[in-house]
Amino acid sequence: MAKLFISDLHLHQDRPEVTDLFQEFIHTLPTFSAPDPELYILGDLFEFWIGDDYEDPLHSEISDQLKNLVKSGIKTYLMHGNRDFFIGKDFLSKTGIKLLPEPTIFSYKNKRVMLSHGDSFCIDDVEYQAYRKIVRNQDWQKSFLNYPVQKRLDILNEARDASIQSQQIKSNEIMDVNQSEVAKVIQKNNIDILIHGHTHRPNIHTIDIDSKKSFRLVLGDWSQSTAKIIEWANDEPKLIDLIN
Ligand code: MN
Repeated sequence: MAKLFISDLHLHQDRPEVTDLFQEFIHTLPTFSAPDPELYILGDLFEFWIGDDYEDPLHSEISDQLKNLVKSGIKTYLMHGNRDFFIGKDFLSKTGIKLLPEPTIFSYKNKRVMLSHGDSFCIDDVEYQAYRKIVRNQDWQKSFLNYPVQKRLDILNEARDASIQSQQIKSNEIMDVNQSEVAKVIQKNNIDILIHGHTHRPNIHTIDIDSKKSFRLVLGDWSQSTAKIIEWANDEPKLIDLIN
């Protein structure tokens, strides 16, 4: 059995090539890492998601394909990202995908593993963390979901414009994870392997704390022709290239 990890596809109708790459990927998944691969989607599958009741042709198409994937016997898990944390019960029951809490910790091949979207480690971006705290609040989410679709779209577009503007003036370091925050979380939870996305900086980092060596594997975002994903089939997880 192999576990496959992906994140940050940011599926959107304006980027049909990424949708094609994803569809090709799920089509070949049953044989990709045979036998019995499991798929972990660690957030930002969609560029935006403003509620399960919002009807969008791309969202419906992807939901149907994921439903078929799960039906074919591929266990599929999803963690919310900062773009699609409104994915809710209806989507999950329609597709048969299981929602993973942020973070998720489990043991696998004698390793203690933590899965995260990754944005919670970016604590140097104080402005973003303040925003995150608001939008992850359950009361705020409830009132947002009660708005008519058009109002939700307006709020989304305003937030996106503001985010693009503020990202332009933030340094690269601010938008990456904070190393000591990562070390703190790894040590506190005794983690051997942390897998996350969000930063779009695919890499494998070694973290030495006291005499213990841990690893932080970062997934990549998807472009029209390639994606960095993680395959864990044997002893160690590997960062591999998916190429169209
Ligand atoms: Mn993200």
